[in-house]
Order: sequence, then structure tokens, then C-alpha cells
Amino acid sequence: MLCVRCGSKAVYYSPHSGHRFCAKCFIRSIERRVRSTINRYKLLEPNDRILVAISGGKDSQVLLTILSKIERRFPQVTMTALAVDEGVPGYRDFGLKRCRELCEELGVELVVTSFKELFGYTLPEIVSLAEKRGVGLKACTYCGILRRRAINIKAKELGATKVVTGHNLDDEAQTALMNLLRGDALRLLRLGPKPIEEYPGFIPRVKPLRYIPERDITFYAYLKGFPFYEVECPYVRASLRDELRFILNDIEGRHPGTKYAIVRAVDKLSALGVKVKVKVKSCKYCGEPTTRDVCRACELLESIGVVAH
Ligand code: SF4
Ligand SMILES: [Zn+2]
Ligand SMILES: [Zn+2]
Repeated sequence: MLCVRCGSKAVYYSPHSGHRFCAKCFIRSIERRVRSTINRYKLLEPNDRILVAISGGKDSQVLLTILSKIERRFPQVTMTALAVDEGVPGYRDFGLKRCRELCEELGVELVVTSFKELFGYTLPEIVSLAEKRGVGLKACTYCGILRRRAINIKAKELGATKVVTGHNLDDEAQTALMNLLRGDALRLLRLGPKPIEEYPGFIPRVKPLRYIPERDITFYAYLKGFPFYEVECPYVRASLRDELRFILNDIEGRHPGTKYAIVRAVDKLSALGVKVKVKVKSCKYCGEPTTRDVCRACELLESIGVVAH
């Protein structure tokens, strides 16, 4: 079987598009797709100071590698990487090591912060406090909310104008379904390729890997020889996201293009440009932007007896 672009021996087949690629053309096609997402949705502007949220996993290795190639052509853009350590023993260590190596290889400045530094507790400590108090929330709920908060705090501290994350097509399709299953129409509307509105105190987030399936990212990372995580987060199996990952992979296997269709449907909703009137205030404890008196992060920390102020 031959590459659709150059006629060399193909090493990759996309069930969705029906195309085959050789290694070189596959790598180029991924990089082109990322560039075209950035251009089409104007995700980055020439004077942006971008903060790339990385974990050391394959998505963030691919993201940082491609962005640093793009950045070289825009010398006015400045780029810093940020890694957030949740404090899960044995899990984040490899990722942080890989973040350091990759940033050194690419010549990107790396800032590392942690839940402990910003909130006073590691994720396992927070989970155990929640269990003692009988708060029935999953580790991923704390982790997701506090990680987003950590990134926003650091982005402001570092004077970033955009936060770039490595969410891929699979993540986005899972998030869309999670919002749907939770009846959260507002979040579904806000899940488009670019923030519909900007809010004071909140640094806009963009996702250039949004249309690249996880499978393609994994193959790109493999072709580039990136090291992979051996250790999985111990909390992952308890999450709704993990259940949806399994279900979506199963459906995608029988109906190629399903994940893409879900994300496209979200894009169409977001393109309607419905502006939801929300009044953004400052959290009375931490000062971060929120639509309520107390932000969700402080509310979670308060519920487990951690004084957030
Ligand atoms: S699986 Fe859950 S707890 Fe673990 S890093 Fe991911 S979001 Fe955090
Ligand atoms: Zn080729
Ligand atoms: Zn707060």
C-alpha cells in the first residue's frame, strides 16, 4: 500500500479519511493540520505571550514540539511552558522529568508549580480529607478544577496573553459528552475552538490539537521517538471521562468519524455565537474570576475544611 501524497511505502492508514501515509508525509500532515487550526480560528496572534500547559505525556510533547517549530517563524511571540504537579506519588515524576528534558531540547523556558505550593495540599491529601468528611466527589473533579485554577494563576503571574493546552479530538469529544450527560448546556456552548467571550482576570485558552485524534498523536509521538508514560494516574479508572473514552472508542471502531462528528457539532453550536450573559465577579476569598461570590475552587477546598483564604 502506498502513501497518498508521495507514493512511498505507507505506514499509516486512517479509517476515517481512507488515506494512507508514509512516515514523513504523516508527520507533515499532522503539523499542517495543527497550523491550519491555528490559522483558521486565529488561535494565536503575532504578539502573543503564550503559556503552554504541559504534563510530559504524549499530547503535550507533540504540542510543544509543533508549537516551537511554528514559534521560530514568529520571533515576536514568546513561549513559556508550565507543568503543574498534583503531587500524586510515582505518577507525575516521569512526566516532570520528561517536561524538563523536552524544554531543554527545544530551548523553551519551563515553570513548574504544584498543588502543594498553590493550595497547601497535594491531590492525595485533598482526596483523603474529602473521604474523611464524606464529600463524595471524585479525585478528577478536584484535580481538573484546581489544575485549571493553577494554570490561570501562573498565566497571570507570567503575563501570558494565551494559554495553550494539548487537548486532542478524543478529549474534546469526551468533554462534550460529559457536559451533555450532566445537562451543562452552557459549558457545551463554550467548548468551541476559541473562547466566545473574554472575561476579565481569565486568560483565554486555546487548543490547537483539537481536531487530531489521540491515535494520530500517539503515532506521531512514536515516529518521533518520544518516551511514553509507563505509569497511569491511580485515580483515572474512577472517572466518567474514562468510561466515556471506552464507549467512544468502541463506537468509533464501528462507525469511524464519530468523535469528529461530535466535535463538529459543538463547533456549529459555538459558531451560533450565542453570548450568555454572565456577570463575572472576583471570588471573595481568592480574587479569581467567578460568576458567584465564592469560586468553585475555594468552594471545593472549603467543603473539605481547607481554609482557602
Ligand atoms: S486521572 Fe484524574 S486525578 Fe489523575 S491526573 Fe487526570 S484528572 Fe487528575
Ligand atoms: Zn509520503
Ligand atoms: Zn476563590
